[in-house]
This record gives sequence, C-alpha cells and structure tokens, in this order.
Amino acid sequence: MKLWSQYFIPTLKESPADAEIPSHKLLIRAGLVRKLGGGLYTFLPLGLRVMQKLTQICREEIERGGGIELLMPHMHPAETWVGGPRWPVIRDVMFRADGAGDAKRLPREPEYVLGPTHEEVVTQLVKAEITSYRDLPKNLFQIGTKFRNEIRPRYGLMRAREFVMMDAYSFDTNNENATKSYFAMKRAYQAFFKRLGVLAISVEADTGVMGGSFSEEFMIPADIGDDDILYCEASGYAANREKARSGLVPENLADASPSGALEEFATPGIVTIAALAAPPYSAPADKQFKTLVYIGDGKPFLIVLRGCDELEEAKLGSLGFAVTRPATPEEIEPVMGAKPGSLGTVKGTIKNPAALAGIYADHAIRLVGNGTTGANKDGFHLRNVNVVRDLTVTKFGDFRRVQAGEPDVKSGRPLQVRRGIEVGHIFVLGTKFSDKINAYYTDDQKQNHPVVMGCYGIGISRTLQAVIEQGHDADGVIWPWAVAPFHVLICVLDPQLPEAMDLAKKLGTAAEQAGADVLIDDRAERPGVKFKDADLIGIPLRLTIGGKGLKEGIIELKWRTSKDVAKIPLAEAEAALRAAVAEAQAKA
Ligand code: ATP
Ligand code: MG
Repeated sequence: MKLWSQYFIPTLKESPADAEIPSHKLLIRAGLVRKLGGGLYTFLPLGLRVMQKLTQICREEIERGGGIELLMPHMHPAETWVGGPRWPVIRDVMFRADGAGDAKRLPREPEYVLGPTHEEVVTQLVKAEITSYRDLPKNLFQIGTKFRNEIRPRYGLMRAREFVMMDAYSFDTNNENATKSYFAMKRAYQAFFKRLGVLAISVEADTGVMGGSFSEEFMIPADIGDDDILYCEASGYAANREKARSGLVPENLADASPSGALEEFATPGIVTIAALAAPPYSAPADKQFKTLVYIGDGKPFLIVLRGCDELEEAKLGSLGFAVTRPATPEEIEPVMGAKPGSLGTVKGTIKNPAALAGIYADHAIRLVGNGTTGANKDGFHLRNVNVVRDLTVTKFGDFRRVQAGEPDVKSGRPLQVRRGIEVGHIFVLGTKFSDKINAYYTDDQKQNHPVVMGCYGIGISRTLQAVIEQGHDADGVIWPWAVAPFHVLICVLDPQLPEAMDLAKKLGTAAEQAGADVLIDDRAERPGVKFKDADLIGIPLRLTIGGKGLKEGIIELKWRTSKDVAKIPLAEAEAALRAAVAEAQAKA
C-alpha cells in the first residue's frame, strides 16, 4: 500500500511540446516517465511498476514456452561483432566506445559497443558451452536494456535509443526441431499479449539484417504505428508492407508478343515518369519501365519496375547483398551512359554492362508487355519495348511495393491496409550465425553440424506505451488490470479526518489481501484535482471516501472504464471491494 503524499507521482496538466501522439503525452502527464535526452527516459515509480509487471508476465510466458533465463552483458568487445555475419550493416546502429589503452589491438575499430541485440554474444556462448546433440534443444532468454543509435528517436518509448527488450535465442539440432521451437515461442507471444489485455496480431515480416528464412512480427493495430500491414480478412493473410505479396500478376500470364519495331524518339528535358505520361508523349505510367540503380556491396545493380510502381527497398534483401544503397548520379552515368531520367535496360544500350552485379526485374513488368523506357542516352527514350525480346534481365523477383486494393493471393479479394506498432518479432534464423561463429554440435554418429537457430524479441518498453495507445480516453490512461501500476485507488477527500484515513487503510488492506495493489490518495487537494488525477493515471478501480459520505454511511466505487458511481453502505464496503477485485482478476 502506498500513500500518494509520500510517493512520487508528478502528474502534469499540460503535455510537453515534443509529444505528438496520445500515448506519449500521457506517459509524461501521468507521471510514468521523464525525458533525459533524445530517446532516453527515466522510468518514474508508476512507469517502473508497469515495466516490472510486463517483465514478470513476459518471463512467465517465455518460460512456459521453454525459455531459460540468463543475463548477458550490455557492453561487448567489438571483436564479438567483427567476427559475426553482419558487422558492416549493424555497426552504425551501435553506440561505440573506445577502450582504454590498447588501441593497437583493433586499429581503426572501436573497442567496445553497447549491445543493440545479442545474437553474436549468445552464439559465442553456445559455441563454447554446447557440444553434443544431448545438450540440445536450448532456448536462452533475457530481459534487459538494449541500445540503438536510432537516427530519429521519436514518440517517447516507441523509438528510443535505450529501451527494454526480451530477447530469446533457440538452438536446435535440425530445421524441424527449430520450427517446433519457433512455434512454441509464437504461442508464448500470443499468451503474453493476451494476458496484457491488448490486441496484437501476427503478420509475415521481412527478415532484414537478420537474414534467416521466415519471420513474423506481432503488431498492435494503431493509426500512429510506423508499419503498414496489408491484410485480407477472408483469407487471413496479413503481412508487413515490406514483405507483402499480392496476386496482381497472374502466375500463368503469357508473355506479350512484340507490338512493333523498337523505336528511339527524342524527349528533350523529360526526366520523370509523369512528364513522359503527359502529352505529347502520352506514355501511361503503367506502360513505362522504370530503371533504378543501386549499389550492392560496392557494385552497381539495376532494378526494373513498372513506371507506376515504387520499389520496396526491404525486398532488395532477397538479393543477398550485405549492404545496399541508391547509387549517386556520379556513379550512374559512367555505367549507364546517361543521367537518371533516361535510363533503361534494352539490350545493347547500357554503356558498361560488365560493371553491373545484375539486372533484377519485378514480375509486374510482364504486365507492361510492350512499353517505353530510357535509351541510356540523355534526352532519348525507346518505345515498343518488349519485355522478352528487348530487355536484359538477370532475374525476375518481387521488388515492388504492394498497394491496398490489389488482389489477395489466396482469395482474390482486395487487400486492405492499416497501421501497426511492431511490438514483437520472431525469426527462423537457420545457421547464419552458427556457421559464421562456428557453433557446432556433434550428433550420435560423431558428425559435426552447425546448430540451427531462431531468435525472438519483444519490445517491453514499446509495449508499455502501445498498451496506453490502445487503452486511453480524453481524460487519461485506462490500464488493463494485468499491468496497472496499482489496481485500486482509494481517494480520501478529507484526509485530515482520522476516521477517513483509518477506513482507507482498512479497505486497502482488504484489497491487498485479495491480491490487489493499492494506492491511497491522501493528498490535501481539492476533490476536483484528485478525480482528474485519478482518471489521468488510470487505476482500474477507484474508491472514494469523503467526510460527507461517511456521515451518510456510504463510500463510492467506480471503474475507470465506466461513468457510473456505485454508492456502497459502509457495512458492505469491504465485501463489495473484495467482490470487485475478484471480478477484475477473473476477467484479466
Ligand atoms: P523497428 O522496425 O521498429 O525499428 P526492429 O525490427 O529494428 O524495430 P527488432 O530488432 O526486431 O526491432 O527488435 C525486437 C523488438 O524490439 C521490436 O519488435 C520492437 O518492439 C523493439 N524495438 C526495436 N527498436 C526499438 C526502439 N528503438 N525503441 C523501442 N523498442 C524497440
Ligand atoms: Mg523487427
């Protein structure tokens, strides 16, 4: 039981200027966190209590899913990462610090990094400690602080530089067992979010920097989310836009026959799809080819899309480069022979095709059949360009951004789109890390194999805020029972009356015995202030004890989710409170 007057709950009437979304405003106003710097927050007592509850529920569910808890260092020697498979891609995400005194050991590299995640660290541990198939499977997890140098930290705890994550890593003898571990974790995630009382849906996701073969994200639907989810209720399909597929291009699409002879025409000053679509050229965007130049691990490669389509950069991950980025105009001209705006991939028109690491075309260009593209000569384009006859393509693939309204692959119905907050991610990793770090086990025939891995993360602090984003109203937070910092708030309107405080403590004790966490508002404040604060901090159940009520022989009981106030005779107060707590516990 805590007394508000002796506790630390700095609530605010106004939200800070940099808080743009409701949950961020409420985090600050309800006295849950305070900002120290960009993406760096202090958890105040109320916020910490929520974190501790989230952490404990998470721990219980991950353990139920087979997890074994440990704790790895937050600070790592840089070698741990240099020896892993993704150092070049991930180093810019890491905060790095010089070690003292031995700069010779790793010239030009930092000595220490702050861990953004722990695949490299845990794989080294397993390499050293696990040697036999008899030691497997193992699923090791921890709950702790992660550091990422986010370019644009924003929305409070949603995208922070220092945040709390549950990260788990499974190790199995083969793919089949690894898949079992994956689904055990998926069930644990579902149980975790269900216990919190939030709706989180799983969607197919890009494997990104992590590599690996399959992954799903857990998303809390919310308009302010950073991710687009494409979904079809009829088929149950749901995917992050980065990964989404559609049935736009029929699988049995026949190649178009050439519509005429290839023809070059002058297009002075025309460097955009839109300009070429307008008169006098009038080549509709979906009848144009768009040619983009990217650099993959230092070498240029081309992506060909329909003029009306956008590249989904995450899909470049399927090409297997460690690092990709758009090429600069200076890099483009020597290879292509023209500036951006006049580029194309018609056979024989690329100035230096040998410099290219490949020409990758999106399947959808087959819908164009015959179209218009740049001639790789500034101010000239080509028309009657037939995909099969004229274009050079190393490989077709899925590179375009899927749009809402395109047909779902399974049901053919239009895909819908909604925003979501990524709160968790699960991956089938395979042997990417164990191969590189040499984490092998021996089977019963004394043969060596790399361990097959999975990795799993839940953003605990992001989830805290997502719970608020999903559960609030104009007056404040509405905590689900399971993670509420306190379950019962006893508002004592006349704390100077000893009988009022005595009753508050007596009822508080009864609620505690029933398993509830109790906060007593014993501040010498006006009732209006107390009720406003009560709604703001969002404790599920509020009891009000006032001098007037005591004279009448009643107290008041109110749920945060309802406007109704029940007047309870004093003699029944304790029983009513116990019943209310039991009811909430049963629902949670
Ligand atoms: P995002 O796409 O939002 O940047 P991510 O895919 O890089 O996240 P993971 O590496 O999958 O994140 O990390 C696991 C979980 O950690 C995420 O699902 C998310 O809930 C949480 N998380 C990641 N980055 C942050 C951050 N900067 N602040 C708070 N939570 C984060
Ligand atoms: Mg992720």
